[in-house]
Amino acid sequence: MNFVSTRGSTKYSFEDVLTKGIADDGGLFIPTELPKFNSTDFHQDLCLQSIARRFLLPFFESSSLERDINEIVDEAFSFPIPTENISSGYSIMELFHGPTAAFKDVGAGFLASCLSRLNANQSSPLIVLVATSGDTGGAVAAAFDELPNVRVVVLFPEGKVSKRQEKQLTCWGNNILSLSVKGTFDDCQKIVKEAFIDSELTNDYRFSSANSINFGRLLPQSVYYAYSSLKHFRAMGVKPNYIIPTGNLGNGLACILARDMGLPIGDIVLTVNENKLIVDYLMGEGWEPKKSIETLANAMDVGNPSNMERLNSLYGDVKNLNKCIRAITVSDNMIKQEIKRSFEKEQLILCPHTATATHAYHHLSVANKENKDWIIVATAHPAKFETVVEPLIACDVPIPVELAAILDKPSQMQKINASMSEFKDILNNNLN
Ligand SMILES: *Cc1c(COP(=O)(O)O)cnc(C)c1O
Repeated sequence: MNFVSTRGSTKYSFEDVLTKGIADDGGLFIPTELPKFNSTDFHQDLCLQSIARRFLLPFFESSSLERDINEIVDEAFSFPIPTENISSGYSIMELFHGPTAAFKDVGAGFLASCLSRLNANQSSPLIVLVATSGDTGGAVAAAFDELPNVRVVVLFPEGKVSKRQEKQLTCWGNNILSLSVKGTFDDCQKIVKEAFIDSELTNDYRFSSANSINFGRLLPQSVYYAYSSLKHFRAMGVKPNYIIPTGNLGNGLACILARDMGLPIGDIVLTVNENKLIVDYLMGEGWEPKKSIETLANAMDVGNPSNMERLNSLYGDVKNLNKCIRAITVSDNMIKQEIKRSFEKEQLILCPHTATATHAYHHLSVANKENKDWIIVATAHPAKFETVVEPLIACDVPIPVELAAILDKPSQMQKINASMSEFKDILNNNLN
């Protein structure tokens, strides 16, 4: 399969797309054409892994990874992704059974499996740089932990991630270097961006990025939409409709791609917090990136969603996008009310991100009387956000075993100032 940048027409291979992360012209990678399936193509496939293999094969075909697709799928989809029925027309797809209890484990695991294989025969290791405000870095570190030929450098802002998040960033093996940076997330991101264009560093090291604009993180996310929609369609005879909490629009775009490839998916509704650029845009207000606002659903605090560039490139302007998706904004107040309500009425404990989507479900099905089959996407386990959730429900959130295993491990990190020269020293002292 061939890929191009959203900003040009140079062709790139699947291997290039995974390794580079971002195109040479600064644009984002998109496939030149999407494979098309119909539901019967998956006829005998029942389990997540067999559906994943069939869905991903066209992307792997004629790449050096094709012969490894079975192992890659088994590694990336090593945990269950169940969809639980809550009541008639209301189901929740749980994406939080991976090692760091959020959906980013799926994309990070897939990218790690692919990149470690693509680098198997290189003489020097690939260095994956990640700046993180919390969730991404943990998922990437967990996914690359102990893999040969790849090292990961995680930069996070000192004191600005939760205790549990810090543990998820710092409890890994020797190929993960965790840097606690005196500064903000933007400072961390700036160091990473500068490293990619620093001639001294790029001479000595081969860098790659595992941030969420890498197509290698987006693609495996489409798999769980294929899997859950096929299961629902076979059981109920109707297409499910999805409500998806989103920030960078990655998880939403993954669902749109799956529908476009012919999977039985009906409406797609995106929910955002008070960072509501996409909502305003769909109402015709233009695309004007803003500074992000801090909310309770902090993994969705994105003022300038990067995947918009892909959406525009693949699906056109606002008029066309309005035929493709809807978007709803949910305030912190509504998130709080919804976490309380769900616990009291349905005995469900939700993370703040997931609560934006269940809030939208109740709005659409009750107020709008949209009596359809809805699948709500649960992006993280509530135990990751216990400081928000526990006061609202007035009890402790049980910790899942995967997360408990991490919380018991010892931490390792180094502290640096937000300075490029300190960063260089750290790399030279630790990676040589
Ligand atoms: C990253 C994240 C999101 C937002 O995902 P996008 O791909 O940016 O849309 C939502 N919820 C949780 C828990 C996350 O970690």
